[in-house]
Amino acid sequence: MNAPNKSGWKPAMQAAGSGEGSAATHTGNRALMLEEPLIFEIGHRETTGVDLPAPSSGGSDRLGRFARTAPIDLPGLSEPETVRHYTRLSRQNYAIDLGLFPLGSCTMKHNPRLNEKVARLPGFADVHPLQPVDTVQGALAVIDELARWLIALTGMHAVAMSPKAGAHGELCGILCIRAALDARGESGRTVILVPESAHGTNPATAAFAGFSVEEVPANADGRVDLPALKARLARGGDGAGDVAGVMITNPNTCGLFERDMKAISDAVHDAGGYVYCDGANFNAIVGRVRPGDLGIDAMHINLHKTFSTPHGGGGPGSGPVVLSEALAPFMPLPYTARTADGHIHLVEEERADAFSEEHFGGVMQSFGRMTAFHGQMGMFTRALTYILSHGADGLRQVAEDAVLNANYVLRSLEDVLDAPFARSGPCMHEALFSDAGFGGGLSTLDLAKGLIDEGFHPMTVYFPLVVHGAMLVEPTETESKAALDQFIGALRHLAERARAGDETLKAAPVHAPRRRLDETQAARRPVLTWGGTDPR
Ligand SMILES: *Cc1c(COP(=O)(O)O)cnc(C)c1O
Repeated sequence: MNAPNKSGWKPAMQAAGSGEGSAATHTGNRALMLEEPLIFEIGHRETTGVDLPAPSSGGSDRLGRFARTAPIDLPGLSEPETVRHYTRLSRQNYAIDLGLFPLGSCTMKHNPRLNEKVARLPGFADVHPLQPVDTVQGALAVIDELARWLIALTGMHAVAMSPKAGAHGELCGILCIRAALDARGESGRTVILVPESAHGTNPATAAFAGFSVEEVPANADGRVDLPALKARLARGGDGAGDVAGVMITNPNTCGLFERDMKAISDAVHDAGGYVYCDGANFNAIVGRVRPGDLGIDAMHINLHKTFSTPHGGGGPGSGPVVLSEALAPFMPLPYTARTADGHIHLVEEERADAFSEEHFGGVMQSFGRMTAFHGQMGMFTRALTYILSHGADGLRQVAEDAVLNANYVLRSLEDVLDAPFARSGPCMHEALFSDAGFGGGLSTLDLAKGLIDEGFHPMTVYFPLVVHGAMLVEPTETESKAALDQFIGALRHLAERARAGDETLKAAPVHAPRRRLDETQAARRPVLTWGGTDPR
């Protein structure tokens, strides 16, 4: 990182090495694409953007030993300078509102503006989690109504609404399994089985909850190897098994439906274990398949994937977990309960009453809480808006169109990109390609970087691990045929260059504000403070 020069400002070319291509302009700006240094390079610590009167003397100082003794050392910028700084930076980001975002498994679909409109209604936007329950009946009705939809769509028994992301939902489900095993006096079951193609969060969750993780192999079709799974379950011995459960993604991250799911669940149940389903890919089957019918005990639903709430910088995630009858009594607090007169209670304590009897077959034995308060209220409002505006038939069409779009991508490119599982039949919501056939030492990374030059966010790369140089493309149902054709055209052009061994691709991206980074160094040795000590 360079030190700022005297004026603080310097042409971006020097500042950040944006590379050739931008050398032609004095400022480093390219047309309306504006360069921007770090805020510490443009703001001075000795200036301030605000003009406050000095505090009147005589007031008592209540800060005690917490009073600041050294300067705060933040860059002083005026409001217009600050606004421009962040607006310029935001223009260097790609976003779902700018173009197709083909990240496989992430389901980057359009976030309908109707959701935003409803979430901003003052009655929803201004509620506070500590308001008396009688004053937030509408908000609780949203949680309760969304819960009913999620239960109906999945064919499950109950739902824990509070987890705040898919991975958080995984932890919730696995803690339910832990609690159920403990209640059965089978705490000796310490192994969670996870397929090779699993998302990294699955083994991480199991390990975090104190289980040891064992891999289940995949068969040549890219699905769970059922005989191998059964053989592993049998090794536990009858009744004295060591397997607590499995974590299986369906459709899996190769974009394939696990056709043996019911047989897998039966085998795991027979061996005394529970079945966790990673529901991140529910978008492909919503309205078509009810996971409850496949013997699933717990599954998280990423509202920010299937139910169109924003991702990442656009908004927090939300990962409600649907549960089977066997796991429901252990679900976290709080949850909503509607009484016959339509009043909605927020149940915040374990209880043994008629409600508990009716819904959980006896005493609620919650393992605890996942969060303060109730979860991501703003996301519940958006997801319910999405569900109600689509209706049951519309949600079914979501899944059908998502699968149609992915197969259009798969079949349009399989002549130029190796599609290792295409012979297994149609894919579900995402198309998986490998780097087989690339020439000149070119790799998946080169093609992905080339996509940036073509104006697209790259697809998911090098995941799942079961395929060499994996490229996982999920177009989602919200892309038009015209948008897909443009993307397919870009990918075809890049695939042809990669096959021909066109080494200029190794320099990509050449048109982006920043060139190719050393991603390993950036991940392993990030320099996170301006002027701070280099961790090396
Ligand atoms: C996205 C995803 C997760 C994790 O969900 P987050 O909401 O990002 O925590 C887990 N598994 C799979 C297959 C995913 O695609």
